[in-house]
Amino acid sequence: MTDQPTPMMAQYLAIREANPGALLFYRMGDFYEMFFEDAVAAAAALDIALTKRGTHLGQPIPMCGVPVHAAESYLLTLIRKGFRVAIAEQMEDPAEARKRGSKSVVARDVVRLVTPGTLTEESLLEARRHNFLAAWAQVRDEAALAWVDISTGALRVAPCPLPRLAPELARHAPRELLALDGSRLDDIAHEAGAALTELSAASFDSTAAVRRLGDLYGVGTLDGFGQFTRAELAAMGAIADYLSLTQRGRMPRLSPPVRESGAGVMQIDAATRRNLELTQALSGGREGSLLSAIDRTVTAAGARLLERRISAPSRDLALIHRRQQAVAALVDDSRLTARLREALALVPDMDRALSRLGLDRGGPRDLAAIRGGLAAAERIAAMLSGAEGLLAEAAGDLVGHDALTGLLDRALVAEPPLLARDGGFVAAGFDAELDETRALRDEGRGVIARMQADYVAETGIASLKIKHNNVLGYFIETTATHAERMLAPPLNARFIHRQTTASQIRFTTVELSELETRILNARDRALELERAVFARLLAAVLDQSARIGQAARALAEIDVGAAFADLATGEGWTRPHVDDGRAFVVEGGRHPVVERALKRKGEPFVANDCALTEGDTPAIWLLTGPNMAGKSTFLRQNALIAVLAQAGGFVPAARAHVGLVTQLFSRVGAADDLARGRSTFMVEMVETAAILNQADAGALVILDEIGRGTATWDGLSIAWAVLEHLHGANRCRALFATHYHEMTQLAAKLEGVENATVAVREWEGEVVFLHEVRKGAADRSYGVQVARLAGLPPAVVDRAREILDALEAGARDGAARPAALIDDLPLFRAAPPPPPAAPARESAVEARLRDIDPDRLTPREALDLVYELAALG
Ligand code: ADP
Repeated sequence: MTDQPTPMMAQYLAIREANPGALLFYRMGDFYEMFFEDAVAAAAALDIALTKRGTHLGQPIPMCGVPVHAAESYLLTLIRKGFRVAIAEQMEDPAEARKRGSKSVVARDVVRLVTPGTLTEESLLEARRHNFLAAWAQVRDEAALAWVDISTGALRVAPCPLPRLAPELARHAPRELLALDGSRLDDIAHEAGAALTELSAASFDSTAAVRRLGDLYGVGTLDGFGQFTRAELAAMGAIADYLSLTQRGRMPRLSPPVRESGAGVMQIDAATRRNLELTQALSGGREGSLLSAIDRTVTAAGARLLERRISAPSRDLALIHRRQQAVAALVDDSRLTARLREALALVPDMDRALSRLGLDRGGPRDLAAIRGGLAAAERIAAMLSGAEGLLAEAAGDLVGHDALTGLLDRALVAEPPLLARDGGFVAAGFDAELDETRALRDEGRGVIARMQADYVAETGIASLKIKHNNVLGYFIETTATHAERMLAPPLNARFIHRQTTASQIRFTTVELSELETRILNARDRALELERAVFARLLAAVLDQSARIGQAARALAEIDVGAAFADLATGEGWTRPHVDDGRAFVVEGGRHPVVERALKRKGEPFVANDCALTEGDTPAIWLLTGPNMAGKSTFLRQNALIAVLAQAGGFVPAARAHVGLVTQLFSRVGAADDLARGRSTFMVEMVETAAILNQADAGALVILDEIGRGTATWDGLSIAWAVLEHLHGANRCRALFATHYHEMTQLAAKLEGVENATVAVREWEGEVVFLHEVRKGAADRSYGVQVARLAGLPPAVVDRAREILDALEAGARDGAARPAALIDDLPLFRAAPPPPPAAPARESAVEARLRDIDPDRLTPREALDLVYELAALG
C-alpha cells in the first residue's frame, strides 16, 4: 500500500517547509494543532498531552493542540522558552472548500510569525517595559545598531562598532537581536538576554533598505528624516525586512527613524548596570533595583519612559536643565502635581492600542483607549495652562483632538468588547440604519416569545418551547411523549417534523422559518453595519496617528516629571546643580534602595557627604574601613546620584553639585561575584582593564575592593597600580574602596587622592558600625571583630587576634615593609610584589634546588635535573 499523505497533510507539510525555524500552529476549527517534531517539542514545553493522528510514511503522526481561545497564554509560554511560532489560519469558510469537492482542503496560510521581538498583544507584553527588536549591521568599517518597539512604534538607530555592541545591548535590553548569518554574536546576545535571529545578507542589503524603508513610510526618499550611514540603513532595512516577514505584509505604524549619537547620553556598560542594579536587581527581578525604588509613574508609558531615562541619563546640559525645571515647577505646586497624577492614572496605553490598530489587530477596546487617552489629555492640558518650558510644550501636544474624541465618544458604547467580531460596540444613536436593524432583530426575539405562547395554547402542551441551536436554527421542541399527537392530524399539517432525539421531538413551521430569516438577516446586517463603523473609526484614528503618538509621548513626559516631583516631595530629595565642570560634591547623600530596605526594618539611614572637588588634578577618594561598615553602599549611592541628576530628576541628598558625568563605571571585587560562577578574578581583571582603557576625564569610576579576588600581595599590587593609572592616565573622578590599609599612604604621594573611612567604634572588644564616612584613614580593618560578630568560635577569634598582632608587629619591624615600599616606589608603576610576610612553606622544587651545587653538576646531570624539576612543578 502506498502511503500517500492525505490532502490536508500535504498542505500541512508544504506550509511547514515554507516556514522553517518556527513551530507551526495549524488552525483546525477551534484548535491550533501541531504535528511531528513540533508536536513533541510543544507538548514538552507546554506540558500538554501528546497524541497520535493517522500515519505518515507508515509511522503514526505525533500531534498536540491548544484551543484557539486560550492560545495567547500558550504562545507566551513558548516565546518565553525561546520558540518562535508561525500561525497558519483558515483563509476561507470550510463551506467554500466543500463546494469545491469532497477532497478539497480549506485554504490555509501563515498570517503571522510570533517572535520575542515582534509582540503586540497586551497579554504577551509587560505594560511597564519596552519590548525592543534590535538589528546590528556592518558595512565595511562602519557598524550600526537599530532598535524598534513595534508595540509603540519608536524606531531608533545609532553608530555602533562591535566593541560597543555589548554595552548598547545592555542599555536597550532588546528581546531579540537580528544579525547577519554567521556573525557569531551568540554570546553577546545571550549575555544581553536577547534571542538571536540570523538573517541572510539580502536582509541587510543597504540599497534594498532604502526601498523597504521608503515603502514602510510611504516616501520616495529618506532625506526628510536626515542623513544615515550605509550601516545604519542596513540595520533599519533588516528590521523592516524582518517585520514584513513576521507580520506578513501588515506593517506596523512606526514613527520616523531617530538617529541617536551616543554622545548625547552617559555611557554605562553592562557590568556597571548590573552592579548598580539600575533597572534590574542582581537577583534578576525588578524588585531591589533603583528603578523599582523610585518609580512613582502612574501610566505604563510613563514607566517605560522612566526606565529609558534611568538606562540612558543625558549628557545634554540644556535638556537636563529643562527637565529639572519641569520637576521643580511640579515640586513647587504639589496640588497641581496631585491633580495631574490623578488624571494621568486614568490614561490608557495609547501607544500600544495605536500600534495594534495600525497592524489591523486592534479592536473596539483599543479605539476606546484612544478616546479615553485623548479626553484625559485635554483635561491635563487645561491643568497646565500656566506652565512654562517643557510642561508648556507637552501641554501643547495634548490638545486639538476634539473632532476625533467627539466622533469616538458618539460612536462607541462606554465599555466596548475586546473584539469587533461579535458587534455590540457601537453606541445607540450613532447610525440610524444600525439602530433600525437592531430594533428589528430585538423585536424578532419578542415575536418568538409570543409565538411560543400561541403554540402552547394551540397544542395544549404546556412544556412546548421555541429554542435555537447552530445546526437547526430556531425550532419548536416538545418531549417525546407528545410525539404521537404532534405527528397526527390536525397538528401535523402545521408542525413540520425536523428531528427526533432520545427524549425530544423537534418541529418547525412556515411562520417560524420566515421569522428566523428576518431575524438572521437583521443580525447579519447589524454586524455588517457595525464593522463598517469600526472601519470608519479606525481610519479616523490612523489618519491622526502621528499626532496621537505625540500626545502619548507628552503624557509620558508629564507623568515622569510628576513622578520625580512626587518622589522629591515625599522623600525630601533636592534639585542637584548640574554643570559642565568636574566637581562631584554631595552633602547628606543617601542610597534610595538601601534606605528603603532599612526603613522597612525601622532602622535609620545615615546620610553621608562626598566631595570630589573641582580642580586641575583628578579627584579620588580612597575609602577604607571594615567589612559591613557601609563602603559599597556609599560608593553606589554616589553613582546613583549622578544617574538621577542626569536623568533630569532630583536626588537623595541635602545638596548636590554634579559636573557632567560622561561615562560611569562601577566594578566590584570578585568575592562579591561568586554567584556568577566564572573565573571571577579573570572577569574582574577584564572588566577593570576596560575601565582603564576607556575612562576619559569626564568619567566617574566606582571601584569596590578591586583585587580582592587574588592573594594579598597580588591584590594589593593590582589595586595600587589601578589607582595610580586612574590618577595619572585617566585623570578622572573616582571612589575607590579597599581593605588594603597600605594604600592609604598613597594619599600623601598623589595630589588629589584623599583618604576617607567609614567610622566604627570599638566598645568592649566589639565593633559598632556608625556608617559614617569621614575624611582620614581607618587604622585597622576590624576583620577579626567582624568574624566574632559572625559567630566564629571564640577560640578561632582569639587565635586570629594573636596571628594578627604577630603580623602587625612583623610589618612594623620591616619584614613586609609596606611603609618602605611607599617611599621606594616611583609613581604610576605597579608595586613589585614584596616578599611574603608570613613564613611561606617551601615548595618541592625549592627543596630540591636547595640541595644542588651548580658548580659540581655535569651537563648531563643538569639536563636530568631540569627534567626532574619539571616533573615536581
Ligand atoms: P561594606 O561594603 O563596607 O562591606 P555595605 O555597604 O555592604 O558594607 O553595608 C553593609 C550594611 O550596612 C548594609 O546592608 C546596610 O544595611 C548597612 N548600611 C550601609 N550604609 C549605611 C548607612 N549609610 N546608614 C545605615 N546603614 C547602612
